[in-house]
Amino acid sequence: MKIFKGKGVANGIIKGRIILYLAESFINVEPRRITKEQIDHELKRFDTAIVKSKKQLSAIKSKVKKTLGISEANIFHSQILILQDNVLINKVIKYIEEDLINAEYAVVKTIKGFVKELEKTDNTYLRERVIDFEDIKNRLLKNMGTGLYETEFRHTEEPTIAVAQNITASDSIELINMGVKALVLEKGGATSHSAILARAMGVPTVMGIDNLINTLIEERHSNDTWDKCIVDAYRGKVIVDPDEKTCVKYDTRIKNLLEKKKLVCEGTALPAKMTCGYEVPVYANIGANFGIEDITCDGAGGVGLYRTEFQYMLRKDFPDEEALFRDYSEVLKMLKEKPVTIRLLDIGGDKFLPYYNHPVEKNPELGERSIRFLFKNMDILRTQLRAILRASRFGSPRIMLPMIASVEEIQIIRKIISEEKEELEIEHIEYRREYVPVGIMVEVPAVVFNLHKIAQYVDFFSIGSNDLMQYTLAIDRESTAASDLYTPSHPAMLEMIAQIAEISNDKKVELSFCGEMASEIKYIPAILGLGVNILSMNRSNIKDAKEFITKLNLAECKELGIKLRKAHTSKEIENLLNGFLREKLKKLTGV
Ligand code: PEP
Ligand code: MG
Repeated sequence: MKIFKGKGVANGIIKGRIILYLAESFINVEPRRITKEQIDHELKRFDTAIVKSKKQLSAIKSKVKKTLGISEANIFHSQILILQDNVLINKVIKYIEEDLINAEYAVVKTIKGFVKELEKTDNTYLRERVIDFEDIKNRLLKNMGTGLYETEFRHTEEPTIAVAQNITASDSIELINMGVKALVLEKGGATSHSAILARAMGVPTVMGIDNLINTLIEERHSNDTWDKCIVDAYRGKVIVDPDEKTCVKYDTRIKNLLEKKKLVCEGTALPAKMTCGYEVPVYANIGANFGIEDITCDGAGGVGLYRTEFQYMLRKDFPDEEALFRDYSEVLKMLKEKPVTIRLLDIGGDKFLPYYNHPVEKNPELGERSIRFLFKNMDILRTQLRAILRASRFGSPRIMLPMIASVEEIQIIRKIISEEKEELEIEHIEYRREYVPVGIMVEVPAVVFNLHKIAQYVDFFSIGSNDLMQYTLAIDRESTAASDLYTPSHPAMLEMIAQIAEISNDKKVELSFCGEMASEIKYIPAILGLGVNILSMNRSNIKDAKEFITKLNLAECKELGIKLRKAHTSKEIENLLNGFLREKLKKLTGV
């Protein structure tokens, strides 16, 4: 047993098995001259690596097919096909035989050549295949005993713990997506992107353990159980090959934690009650199903925004109906009868899919984005709606339409929903026959000025301040040059929120707020005072927000709202908001 001490950056305890995840830069492949007598030996090593790699890929393919679906599994099928390609194989053989170089270097040289050609093409699909070639290279190297890059998962029921030197945010998404339950990194810090992601996804993570990988590599030569591991992120501890006594101790700890969580959870999902008794439901914005089982422990009374685009961005190809059905069902089951607001795919703008040929536009935020993308790709839209309708049997779903600008768009979607229901009926596929509420994001100014009419066509509104601000203030939300002007404290923004609330309340249409502005304590009294009833925010902000709301009363928020609407400048608004917050904190803390 060996105990390593680092810094826990995302809490939790996991007991499982280690996989080493080492970046390619860690693998240093040097050319090595061989003699003519060594040719056969190198050819044999290459051949063995090919056979081994194909076997591993087939195993991964069947595992992925079961967990993620056929399209994801096909990625590994394409890699198997590459390994069967005679052009590639003959090139490696030629380098070994004619240039008299070692098999590893022959592989690196061959794949480099392929990658260079692919990178030259205009074809996005082919360019995207570069990653497959890189993966294959690493796998072959590993199977020749040089590389240390491991991507495959052992077929074990035990949780997987990835140990890496350092990883990028996308690496961590990929690892977590593949089922990794804990991360241990030699480098990195609490504010690194991988740490932020790990926290958001509820994956226990320990960082800052120097020289761990070398120790593990040494261990694995001499010790069969080198990969048994306990990650205790509460204490920043990584225990490698724990003894029996430690295992028993941690089994009890893990069990107790689960039970405690259940106890702590009870009641936390209730609305936040103001001092006047007014209750504010607070929901969560989520992007994928990571850590969904803990959502009510964060205090969320439901999901106010489920960003479907993560289901697309995390995959390497469009998810099929089954994959979406699985994802949606899981969330709905987990949330039981609590509302789950599933937003249709909002892709384009600043969110692109690597496997789709997005048009090159000067202003993508104003182009083929969101609902416009869906109307151009009706099959993708219909697939989502079918998956939602089928999964809806398991809970309380609501369908939310992004970037709506007109009544017609809502009518089209409603018509498609009816058609898909009929289709499911004909096909004898189970789905929710009861009505599924349909609402829209209020994030395009055009919809605000038409809201009293649009109210007749929807069941709820949700203010998307991130985009509403972008389109109202004419500032690209990604712009760094104009970022100081991208502020919710603009008089037009607050006036818009007030008018949206007035109309929604008048027309008795439920109104929630899911833009980032709702996560900021400073704006919460303003949002509630202007007439919004429900808030939805990042999971990590919910507890603080709820605690703050319980210190407010609605009358003082309304009073603040009236003052804010009279302000002429952003500066005046900022002063009012900061003044309110200061007074509140003074009263609460007595200083
Ligand atoms: C918004 O626009 O405020 C919003 C919540 O959606 P997104 O940030 O995904 O565009
Ligand atoms: Mg938006």
